[in-house]
Amino acid sequence: MRLLEERIKKDGQVLGQDVLKVDNFLNHQVDPDLMAAMGEEFQRLFKDKKITKILTVESSGIAPAVFAGLAFHVPVVFARKHKSLTLQDNMYSATVYSYTKKVNNHISISKKFLNADDRVLVIDDFLANGQAVEGLLSIIEEAGAQLEGVGIVIEKTFQKGRALLDQRGIQVESLARIAAFEDGQVVFLDDNQ
Ligand code: 5GP
Repeated sequence: MRLLEERIKKDGQVLGQDVLKVDNFLNHQVDPDLMAAMGEEFQRLFKDKKITKILTVESSGIAPAVFAGLAFHVPVVFARKHKSLTLQDNMYSATVYSYTKKVNNHISISKKFLNADDRVLVIDDFLANGQAVEGLLSIIEEAGAQLEGVGIVIEKTFQKGRALLDQRGIQVESLARIAAFEDGQVVFLDDNQ
């Protein structure tokens, strides 16, 4: 998505070897016009699926997920993070290793908001090693719901998340695909084409 790539080039900051900071428009300050355009794009990419629910993880998945929900006119549910694992009968839960914080988080979703009739689109801000998405997939499986696809705002193609999801035959659509960080600059996959 050209608009997003331009914004990443303008406002993204590369930290170290493999982290992109996008707090100017995605995960601290949020640009609603850009989010609305991204929501429409997710809807276009998954328009053939009968999505009934969008799932994400708090907090940085919420903004893109809500705008996707607006485009599909379906509810958006975000998994909540907890420090300790407190299993409860009325919750689905999974353990997720946080890529940026290097700690285990436990995520959970109330059984009230996900059931076997749901056809789910997972949305997240980044795809790195795929842990956050895997956590949501295990919750979807536990609920007996059907996964229809995964929509990602920014995919780092040089990390292993994409391969994991491809191996499972999941439709993954990313709005920006980063091939590499070179000298602090972002190189997109389609820059090379
Ligand atoms: P994964 O679970 O795929 O390894 O990592 C995805 C999660 O880690 C995302 O939900 C996102 O919050 C965070 N993350 C991974 N890579 C980056 C990055 O380069 N920049 C930022 N800001 N967050 C990232």
